[in-house]
Amino acid sequence: MRDVIVIGAGLSGLMSALVLAEAGYRPLVLARGYGRTHWLGGTIDVLPQADLRQGLIRVIEEQAQHPYARIGLSDMEAALKRFRSLMVAARYPYVGGLERNVWLPTALGALRPTALLPATMAAGDMRLGGELLIAGFHELRDFFPRLIAANLQAQGVDARGLYLTLPHGRRRREYTPRTFAELFEQRDFREDVGRQLGYARGMATRIGLPAVLGLEAPLQVVQDLQQLSGAQVFEIPTLPPSIPGMRLVSIFERAITAAGGRMQIGSAVVRAEHGGDRLDALYSEAAAREQRHEARGFVLATGGIAGGGIQTDYQGGVWDTALGLRLQSPAGRAEWFQSGFLQELGHPIFEAGITTNARFQPINCMGEVIFANVVVAGSALAGRDGQQQRNSSGLALCSGWYAAHGLSGMLAA
Ligand SMILES: Cc1cc2nc3c(=O)[nH]c(=O)nc-3n(C[C@H](O)[C@H](O)[C@H](O)COP(=O)(O)OP(=O)(O)OC[C@H]3O[C@@H](n4cnc5c(N)ncnc54)[C@H](O)[C@@H]3O)c2cc1C
Repeated sequence: MRDVIVIGAGLSGLMSALVLAEAGYRPLVLARGYGRTHWLGGTIDVLPQADLRQGLIRVIEEQAQHPYARIGLSDMEAALKRFRSLMVAARYPYVGGLERNVWLPTALGALRPTALLPATMAAGDMRLGGELLIAGFHELRDFFPRLIAANLQAQGVDARGLYLTLPHGRRRREYTPRTFAELFEQRDFREDVGRQLGYARGMATRIGLPAVLGLEAPLQVVQDLQQLSGAQVFEIPTLPPSIPGMRLVSIFERAITAAGGRMQIGSAVVRAEHGGDRLDALYSEAAAREQRHEARGFVLATGGIAGGGIQTDYQGGVWDTALGLRLQSPAGRAEWFQSGFLQELGHPIFEAGITTNARFQPINCMGEVIFANVVVAGSALAGRDGQQQRNSSGLALCSGWYAAHGLSGMLAA
C-alpha cells in the first residue's frame, strides 16, 4: 500500500506531491494527462491588482471562504519560497513575489499582470522603458511579431516587429514550439540568431522572442543571445503547447521522483472505495481492466471544470470525476451557456468546485467532513471568485503546498 495518492498532475498536484515526497510519504501521482501547465505561459499569477499585497489583504479580509483566506499570507509566502528554491536548484530561477505585479506582453501584444516570472521573461517588464524589438520566425505559427508590436504601440510602448530568417540546414516539414526549443539548444543555431538580432536591433535596448528558448538551459540561451545581440532578451509566452510549462513539469517530476514519489500519467481515476468517513482505495483506467490503488491519504487535485475534474449533465447535475462527489450547481443551467468564455467576471460554470473546511477536507452541505483522509487543492476547490480564473496558477501552487502539509500532519498524528 502506498502512503499517499495524489490525483492530478497540474501545478497543485505537482506541488502537493513534492511536499509529501519530501515529508517521506512516497506519493503516487495518478493523472489522466498532464495539467494546464502545457497551456499556460509559465508565470505564477496570484491576483490581477497592481498592488498585489493590498489586493490579497482585501481578499483575505472580505472573503472568508476564499482559499487564499484559509491559507493566509505567511503560508502563501512559504509555498512560493519552496517553489522559488526548487527552480533555483534547477537553474531556472523565478523573480518577483507577493508585493506587486509585473506587467508582461502577451503573444497578442496585450499586457497582463503576474506575480512571479521566470528570469528568462524578466526583461519584458513593461516598467523598464526603452525601445522594444519583437522578433519571431515565419515558421513558428501563431507568433506574429508585427501584430504584437502594433498592439504594444497602441498602448504607448515604443515597439517594432520583424521576422528572422531560419538558418540554412534547419528546414523541416513541421515546426512546433518544441522544434524551436530543441533548435535553440544548439550553439550554432543560437549564434546565427544572435547575430541577426545584433544587425536588426538598431536603437532597441530589449528584444522579445517567443518563449521557445530551450527546454533544459533557457537561461544560458538568453545570456548567449544577449551577448551576441547587445540587448536584453526576454521570452514572450506563445500559444500552447507551452515550453515554459513543460520546463516546470519536468523540474517537478525530477524532484518528486528523486524524493521517492512516482508519476503515473495516463491513469484516469474513475471511482473510489470507502468505508465510513475514510477513503480506502481508488480505481484507475488501465488497458484491460481497472487498477486498484490503496493508500492512507489522498490529494484531489483534478483541476475543476477546465481540468477535467468536474463533469456535468443535461439535467444540471455536477460531480467530481474521480471520487464521484456530487457538487452544488454554481448557477442555473441556462447561465452555463452564457457567452464570453473568459470575460472579466469569469464564466459561472468555473465557480463549480468542491466545498471544503479550513483544512481543505471535502465537506457536505451540512458542513460534515466527507472523507477525513482526503484534501482538495487547486482549481478543484470551491470558493474562488470568477475574476480569478486566469490568476489561479498562484492558487494552485499555494493550495497544493498547504493541503499537502495539512495531510502530512494528519497522517503523522
Ligand atoms: C483558457 C484558460 C486560460 C488560463 N490562463 C491562466 C493564466 O494566464 N494564468 C493563470 O494563473 N491561470 C490561468 N488559468 C487557470 C490555471 O490554468 C489553473 O487554474 C491552474 O493551472 C490549475 O491547476 P490545477 O493543478 O488545479 O489543475 P490542472 O492544471 O487543470 O490539472 C488537473 C489535473 O487533473 C487531472 N485529472 C482530472 N480529472 C482526473 C481524473 N478523474 N483522474 C485522474 N486525473 C484527473 C488532469 O489530467 C490534470 O493532470 C487559465 C485557465 C484556462 C481554462
